[in-house]
Amino acid sequence: MVETAAPGTERRRLRVRGTVQGVGFRPFVYRHAVALSLTGFVCNDAEGVLIEAQGPEPAVAELCRMVLECPPPLARVDEVRTTTVAPGRGDDGFRIVESTGHGAASVPVSVDVATCAACLAEVDDPTDRRHGYPFANCTDCGPRYTIVRSVPYDRPGTTMAGFAMCGPCRAEYDDPADRRFHAQPNACPVCGPRLRLADAAGAVVAEGDAALDRAVQVLVSGGTVAVKGVGGYHLAADGTDAGAVAGLRRRKGRDDKPFALMVADVAQARRLCHLDAAALEALTSPRRPVVVAPRRPGAPVADGVAPGLPELGLMLPYSPLHHLLATRCGRPLVMTSGNLTDDPIAHLDEDAAARLGPLVDGVLQHDRPIHIRCDDSVLRSAGGRLQMLRRSRGYAPEPMRLPVAARRPLLAVGAELKNTVTVAKGPTMVPSHHIGDLGHLAAYTSFLQAAAHLCRLCGVEPEVVVHDLHPEYLSTKFALDLGIETLAVQHHHAHVASCLAEHGRTGPVLGIAFDGHGMGTDGTLWGGEFLLADLRGFERVGHLAPVALPGGAAAVREPWRMAVTWARAAAGPDAAAALGRRLDPRAPQVLALAERHDVLRTTSAGRLFDAVAAIVGIRGRVSYEGQAAVELEALAATVPPGDAVPYRADVDMTDGMLVLDPAPMIGAVLDDVARGRPPAAVAAGFHLGLAAAVASAATDLAGRHGVGTVALSGGVFQNVVLSRAVEVALAGAGLEVLVHRHVPPNDGGISVGQAAVAAAASRR
Ligand SMILES: [Zn+2]
Ligand SMILES: [Zn+2]
Ligand SMILES: [Zn+2]
Repeated sequence: MVETAAPGTERRRLRVRGTVQGVGFRPFVYRHAVALSLTGFVCNDAEGVLIEAQGPEPAVAELCRMVLECPPPLARVDEVRTTTVAPGRGDDGFRIVESTGHGAASVPVSVDVATCAACLAEVDDPTDRRHGYPFANCTDCGPRYTIVRSVPYDRPGTTMAGFAMCGPCRAEYDDPADRRFHAQPNACPVCGPRLRLADAAGAVVAEGDAALDRAVQVLVSGGTVAVKGVGGYHLAADGTDAGAVAGLRRRKGRDDKPFALMVADVAQARRLCHLDAAALEALTSPRRPVVVAPRRPGAPVADGVAPGLPELGLMLPYSPLHHLLATRCGRPLVMTSGNLTDDPIAHLDEDAAARLGPLVDGVLQHDRPIHIRCDDSVLRSAGGRLQMLRRSRGYAPEPMRLPVAARRPLLAVGAELKNTVTVAKGPTMVPSHHIGDLGHLAAYTSFLQAAAHLCRLCGVEPEVVVHDLHPEYLSTKFALDLGIETLAVQHHHAHVASCLAEHGRTGPVLGIAFDGHGMGTDGTLWGGEFLLADLRGFERVGHLAPVALPGGAAAVREPWRMAVTWARAAAGPDAAAALGRRLDPRAPQVLALAERHDVLRTTSAGRLFDAVAAIVGIRGRVSYEGQAAVELEALAATVPPGDAVPYRADVDMTDGMLVLDPAPMIGAVLDDVARGRPPAAVAAGFHLGLAAAVASAATDLAGRHGVGTVALSGGVFQNVVLSRAVEVALAGAGLEVLVHRHVPPNDGGISVGQAAVAAAASRR
């Protein structure tokens, strides 16, 4: 039967590509289509979102305009292709059609979204029924990933299941024209979650607005409060109060690692940091990451917030509770993950009471459970560019496109430190939130939960599990015990692949992977690697000269060990012994160890930075991984590039293998330090010298192997002074350079690279 439509009726098919799944796109289309009295449908499929809309031509055109010009806050529309199709009369209104996945991993829930302007206006409006309500949200904002327990994503499947909506909330929820239509966490002061303040012993001392007031009093008088947020608990303190910050640092057991600050608004943020356009955009985006940016001289912040660092990590409030707290306190608040040292962030109330209660003067909590813990994401703003350091709340579980579709569903379990996992199916992969350092039992438990939850959420039953080569990583052990097909991906290949994947590339490239270390195919610890790589495989074509890693993990905590080891390699035993006398009384034992043939060797670039930092006198031991290197970079950044004199390294080619030997640089560094050259000049000379050597090695290798593209990955490339100098030199040599933007260059990106490699392998 051929159906005919009313005259003047048009039907258009819109094929929308970009970041359009898991960002509330379908409800957005639905709401506007219904408001415009259109019929048709919207669905997710393997290519993005597909819409068919039918009605009077102006109304259809208006829907097209909205899709293009004002999509939901987290969507990024790359392309809309519109075709006119024959109208029909078969539609019964406008519908959200179940995903036609075509075998792609689809995420039925969006990332957590910061409070929108409309909700904030209500919270601030004394006449609104949500005035001062810390849990206001709507279809455009609010918690999502952190509250979803099961799919499909509807209220009974979330931690809001226990809250029955009152009449007015239900009416909003049911009205297609309302901003809260099908907003699963919809709530108000009558029917929704409530705030309470508990004392250190767990007794509730205030509720509702009184709880908020008491918490503010505690904070402004120098106390510490545990605050239950969106993805977990923060520990909060007055960021301008040196005593409060020092107290928090002492109680948390965190020596020097910088604390993030929450500021009430952009004006306050600008008083603390230099923020360029990109930094401001990230800071105010609905994803609300922590943005690390250069601090202003004299910024009114206690020294203990970020000891010895020229940058501060800032974020804006992302829930109404944060908004109320930051506004009423009227000063920057330290908001650091609620945990002890490197444990995962506390997200369950009982756990928070037990672990955090003894550390604080009050616990500000509420009765909306957090199902999945999710730390704040961290971006670094430097040199006009943003770099992802930790991709978590506000970004996970947003799917990414695989350069090569996976033939079989897979789970990639990442590395050991900064662990994430990634699931993939068809053309799509979904990286998890930041899980943490698996060496901690609590983090490992969290890893197990996250992997299972992400698979369930995305409808992926993995047939292949992808893991690191390192046999001692808990993620590797987990993978091998899973009883399904396994694939091992070398650590640095995964780094390079993660960079390829975020650019939608397959290679071949010359990959430069510089990091702390990862297991090499020869059983030594690699960490300064030049790999000729594509997604399917790699060939190691160059590396830093290997040196002993005396003491293994101790060498990571105590950079002076690498300093004497490198001094010995560069200038001989006497120079090393002399340096050792200056740095640590245990140096003779370490040097004896370094001479043995059975000691583990490494090509680690991260440990090279540690060594130089210790020689320059920055520090002989660190309280967090990479601290010495971060401080060395900060020192180097104080010297204008034109003023630095680069040290020279050796680059040798033997049997087709390039070896970049920094020994001559170390020798020069030792001489200059002995001569009393300023540490900043030495730090800058080291950065520029290494960058020049790396770029010349890469140019040579790219030419030899006929590739025109270089990919930079690994945690060492978080170093902007190094990265910039390498990029400029490579571009000057006519090479294309790929750097990370959306995936962390550090081990947080390993699972993404593993997934991309495994997907490509499945196509063999
Ligand atoms: Zn809202
Ligand atoms: Zn209500
Ligand atoms: Zn790594």
